[in-house]
This record gives sequence, C-alpha cells and structure tokens, in this order.
Amino acid sequence: MTAPLAVQAARLGRDYGATRALEGLDLEVPAGALVGLLGPNGAGKTTAMLLLATLLAPTRGSAALFGCDTRRDRRAARQRLGLVFQEPSVDGLLTVEENLRFAARLAGLREREARAAVRATLDRVGLTARAAQPARTLSGGWRRLADIARATLHRPALLILDEPTVGLDPEHRERVWALLDEERRTRGCAILFSTHYLAEAEPADHVVLLAAGRVAAAGEPALLRRALGAAVVELEGSGAAGAVRLLQCDDLVSRAIRTDRGYRVALRDAHAPALERLAAAPGLTRVTVRETTLEDVYFAVTVCASDDAP
Ligand code: ATP
Repeated sequence: MTAPLAVQAARLGRDYGATRALEGLDLEVPAGALVGLLGPNGAGKTTAMLLLATLLAPTRGSAALFGCDTRRDRRAARQRLGLVFQEPSVDGLLTVEENLRFAARLAGLREREARAAVRATLDRVGLTARAAQPARTLSGGWRRLADIARATLHRPALLILDEPTVGLDPEHRERVWALLDEERRTRGCAILFSTHYLAEAEPADHVVLLAAGRVAAAGEPALLRRALGAAVVELEGSGAAGAVRLLQCDDLVSRAIRTDRGYRVALRDAHAPALERLAAAPGLTRVTVRETTLEDVYFAVTVCASDDAP
C-alpha cells in the first residue's frame, strides 16, 4: 500500500472580496518531501499556506493532509501539522521553556511526556541555555528558532513554514535549515515552505512558482533550470541590447530578460563560439557566463514578456 500524500490539493483557491488571491492550486507533497512555494509579493503564497494549514476556508477546491480533508477532518489534519507563520507564535512574556510547556499541553501530551519533549526540543534547537529567558528578550534569530521549537515539539509529520528565514542573519538561516534538514532526515517529516531567498529553494524536491494567484511554473528545480537554458550570460552596458541581438542571430537565446543594468540571457548552448565574440562587442562593461539558477527561472516566469525584447 502506498503511503498517503502529506499534502494533496486540487484546484484550491481563495478570493478576498473581488481579489482572487489564489486561482486554483493543484499540489502534491509526498511524505518526507521538501517543497518550496515561490513568487513575488502578493502572489498568493501565504494564502495557499493558510488554506493548507486549515486556518482559512477555501472559496473553491479542496485539500487533504495525509488523507484528512482540511475542512471535514480539520482536527485530525491539524494533529499531524506544525506551523510557522510570519508572526511570532511564542508569547514574549513567558520564558522559552514555559512557551514549550504550553505548546506540549495544547498538543495533549501528559506531564511526563511533556517534560521529556520540552527537554529534547530545547536541546535539539540549541535553546537549552536560553530556556529561562522571557521570549521577548531573545534576538530575532533565536525567537524564530523558538517558533520552530514550538512547531516541532509534538514531532509533526508535516511542517508548513511561511518565510521561515526572513530577516535572519546567515548564521541563524543556516541553523534554521540545519534543523529542518534534521527533521526530514531523522523522521521523514515533509516540509512545505515559502521564501524570497531563491537559493534556499535549490535543494527542494519540487517548487511551485506563483504569480498573481496562478501557478506560473512548477517542477524539480534542476528540470526548471534546464528547461530555461544551458547557461545564462549577464550583459551590462550601453551595448547590451546589441549583444543580445548578436546572440539571437545565432539562434542562441532561449530567453532574454531586461534588468536594471542590462540583460540576463538564457542560452541554448553554453559553449557556442558566439559567446567568445562578445568580448569584442562594443559598449559592454560586463559579460558573465554562469550556470542557470532558480532565480533566473523566477525572473523568466514572473517578468512580463513584453518588457524583454531588446
Ligand atoms: P508576500 O510575499 O508579500 O507575503 P504572498 O505571496 O504571501 O505575498 P498573499 O499574502 O497570499 O501573497 O496575498 C495574495 C493577495 O491577496 C494579495 O493581493 C493580497 O493583497 C491579498 N490579500 C491577502 N490577505 C488578504 C486579506 N485578509 N484581505 C484582503 N486581501 C488579502
């Protein structure tokens, strides 16, 4: 028998009055998978996560977590779920430990289990030395880790995290991702997250790029990168548009995206002789050939196509 999917959404959508925040999302997250939701501000990421987290009722479509419908079996769905949204979930007036004890009680753990779970969570997240501190005295990074501690205390099978690393310094970002990796590796926890740091989504099994409430692209990051181009050349300077036309003559351009300083051009062939000729093209202040990234895919699918032609 196959394991039920951690998330299965079909044509899931939500309107806020006349605003169509999410058109109709189809999404499958297998148990233990890492799935990223990407897209510009207002694309519908938070709305999608609130719907999946059972915190918002859909206008259309349906979703199930481990086979439990988010509306009909809300309670069962919630039991398997840990949530981190952008607002802090810990109470600033309580100590870190009190916050976790409170979360353990809410999760229905008995006194002994609760004590063991709080101790293990503090240790796992690296908060033991700060356990007696009121949460409001933690730095932003540690407070975020306290949110994650709270969300993982009952060892959920699915974590939904809305921009878990926003505003954190690189050290705390690294800590957050190390913790999330451990949840997946040791317990097979599925993770659905959103981020504006596109490099964080590169290791994902699957990403969904939303734009204006619609799915603009979806798939494995490596496949999305390959579909866009074998490599990318960044061109800067007054001669950038001319250089793009030169590459177009050789049928090398899979997509040219205008940037503030020139063009970012996805190429069909990373080793074509025409690239070497760019060094001699007039008016170029920078020519950089590099690997295609998810950020390139993001720009390609979210930037208006009519803006691109040189
Ligand atoms: P961000 O990256 O800025 O967090 P997002 O991709 O999470 O954006 P949402 O917060 O889901 O996007 O918003 C999608 C759309 O729905 C936006 O147009 C937003 O203004 C609108 N919206 C979100 N919440 C509400 C609400 N409670 N009432 C009315 N409109 C809303």
